[in-house]
Amino acid sequence: MFNTRIKIKEVIQSDRVDYSATVMGWVRTFRNNQFIALNDGSTNQNIQVVVALGMLEETTLKRITTGACIKVVGEVIASLGKGQKVELKATSIEVLGDSDAEKFPLQPKKHSLEFLREIAHLRFRTNTFGAVFRIRHSLAFAIHSFFNQKGFVYVHTPIITASDAEGAGEMFRVTTLPLDGSAPKNDDGSINFKEDFFGKSTNLTVSGQLEGELAAMAFGDVYTFGPTFRAENSNTTRHLAEFWMIEPEMAFCDLEDNMNLAEAFIKYIIRYTMEHNQEDLAFLSQRLEEEEKQKPQSERSEMSLLEKLAFVVNNDFERITYTEAIDILRESNHNKKKKFQYLIDKWGIDLQSEHERYLVEKHFKKPVILTNYPKEIKAFYMRQNDDGKTVAAMDILAPGIGEIVGGSQREERLDKLTERMKEMHIPTEELDWYLDTRRFGACPHAGFGLGFERMVQFVTGMGNIRDVIPFPRYPKSASF
Ligand code: ATP
Ligand code: MN
Repeated sequence: MFNTRIKIKEVIQSDRVDYSATVMGWVRTFRNNQFIALNDGSTNQNIQVVVALGMLEETTLKRITTGACIKVVGEVIASLGKGQKVELKATSIEVLGDSDAEKFPLQPKKHSLEFLREIAHLRFRTNTFGAVFRIRHSLAFAIHSFFNQKGFVYVHTPIITASDAEGAGEMFRVTTLPLDGSAPKNDDGSINFKEDFFGKSTNLTVSGQLEGELAAMAFGDVYTFGPTFRAENSNTTRHLAEFWMIEPEMAFCDLEDNMNLAEAFIKYIIRYTMEHNQEDLAFLSQRLEEEEKQKPQSERSEMSLLEKLAFVVNNDFERITYTEAIDILRESNHNKKKKFQYLIDKWGIDLQSEHERYLVEKHFKKPVILTNYPKEIKAFYMRQNDDGKTVAAMDILAPGIGEIVGGSQREERLDKLTERMKEMHIPTEELDWYLDTRRFGACPHAGFGLGFERMVQFVTGMGNIRDVIPFPRYPKSASF
């Protein structure tokens, strides 16, 4: 029976001493056959287990190695050593699972993030990934808590879909047809998907938005929070092939309401982790400062991670239009000195991540919400502005990340929507169900998508998105 166990976090965080306790966890280090640093994942801190000399058989002592899983029964006492308030004086130790010290890949030393990515099945057991994934958990919890408090309904949109929300996303196909050339064909030689499992061509979803809109036209305020998939060949530090997205959708909501909600939402979930993950954030902030010391002075960030988060929750995001952003970028010394890879010359171009980062990191030095983009570079469902050129889109750009949120007010006018779909060659028949929302009781509505991993990156300060999801999927990689 394991239920006498208490979590190490509870033992360490309380000032209580002189009671007996049972803890279980994984050995981080064992010094002088006397001091075990034990971690059970409940906190970044290890409890110091003190083994009296002669207490254990030589054979048991040898089995207490880095990575081994042990059960300790002992007395919690005020610590005699420095670095911890309490320690556990063992009365008995049982090895639950041995770990061959010669073979265990995690040695008690600093490993590179790249190496740890190769052993992602074990990296949960490091300080850095322990902190990252406890924070990831907190953010997920805070997201549900925020929407629940505001009366939003959590809808589960499908993972397998026959539609492509953007009309252009690169998707993973879902099929049970054979790949050996024997799949049923049409007269013209193309694959006959009528014979496939769903009787039509299907894919993994790139977004739950369109289905979210249907639910918003009944519940008012809804959100989805689920996995999305993009077969884009983007080998960047900000793209995954499988990532999680939060997509709220609100009836009776315009672009400004949408921005207000998004800003309040981001601040809420950051504040939540600042309150509930102090230790992990302090650890990651410290870690980042060490890393920054390797960089030349000019490239170091002005704020620590903790300062950056505090700054973001305590200051308004900058809000400017796409047109204003283009003017700022075009007139910037950076552009004039040709320091951008893609120079800004004319209105209408899509912003590259270097431009987004210039705006947030160099120019405004805070998160920026960009609005009213040219319609040519945005999706068909975005509400057309009266100028005939722009749509009511909004992207939120974050320091160090670039785009973190993409959203818009949706086009609720049936004629305008179908006209735009035709211009963009999006088949209206296939999305007839979607158009029904515009036929039966349409209303102004808006929503956005927040990339969960980009948010986790922002809060943890991790440079690579592959290090904030347990088992990252990206081109040529789907291990574990
Ligand atoms: P980007 O230009 O950075 O590729 P996008 O314009 O394709 O982003 P959207 O389609 O608006 O992004 O998706 C909404 C949000 O989902 C983005 O703001 C971002 O936070 C996140 N996101 C998009 N693509 C990815 C990806 N491949 N991996 C992780 N997160 C992503
Ligand atoms: Mn993209």
